[in-house]
Amino acid sequence: AQASLITSEKMAALGALVAGIAHELNTPIGNSLLTATALADMVTVFERQLADGGVRRSVLDAHLHDAKTACNIIAVSLGKAADLITSFKQVAVDQTSDQRRRFALDGVLRDTLATYAAQLRRANCEVRVDVPASLEFDSYPGSVSQVISNLINNAMLHAFEGRDHGIITITARALDDDPPASGSAELRFADNGVGMNSRTLNQVYDPFFTTKMGQGGSGLGMNIVYNIVTGVLKGTIRIESTPAQGTTVIITLPRQVPQAAAA
Ligand code: ADP
Repeated sequence: AQASLITSEKMAALGALVAGIAHELNTPIGNSLLTATALADMVTVFERQLADGGVRRSVLDAHLHDAKTACNIIAVSLGKAADLITSFKQVAVDQTSDQRRRFALDGVLRDTLATYAAQLRRANCEVRVDVPASLEFDSYPGSVSQVISNLINNAMLHAFEGRDHGIITITARALDDDPPASGSAELRFADNGVGMNSRTLNQVYDPFFTTKMGQGGSGLGMNIVYNIVTGVLKGTIRIESTPAQGTTVIITLPRQVPQAAAA
């Protein structure tokens, strides 16, 4: 029905993500809870000592130091939890509001790129696009945009360690134009960045796998890309990467996504 734009594949991908997020949230929230409880106990002890009178300065300082440490632990833990929730919100919003329609890839690509203009400039990253204006899809533009967005973000973040200039090349071509309405298309996202070693490459789609621990990495980006490409858009994805040279993500998508079973 009209209300059920969420396909079962999307639900499955979201379900896996929710389970993973719940699991990941457990640690920072659990830490915060334990530390907050310990902090409350500290305050109680301190109150009692104050009521009894004659608390020495050094004891007071030690209490304050412990309390401050506890507050910092809580702040860092809740910060991690908030980052996770932000990543989750981005996926959830884009996925549920997406509607199947006919669209030109070029338009969706340029709209998505526009949202990265300032970040790309700051990162000193140049984007080269070679996408035929005639390349159209009957598919989910929001999901395609989400994939593009995550891949640009990754290419930009890994673009240019040790270089003065990152180059991201995005190309697309129809693989089969006969008949024109069907067939599939290949999209390539290439960067000249740090590349991945085989260990990273083997785990790159795993939820919460990140080499950017503590630098804002959630490890969800490529997992989301994988889930959307294979689950929602019914395509395939593979990665070619050479350390210190760069990474190319190659995605094949049907130009007409098979009709989703009614949810
Ligand atoms: P995050 O970016 O939050 O770490 P991702 O799932 O997007 O999570 O990526 C997982 C890991 O894969 C990254 O931490 C990084 O090591 C590697 N990676 C992803 N894209 C690229 C890229 N374009 N170049 C080099 N490494 C990459």
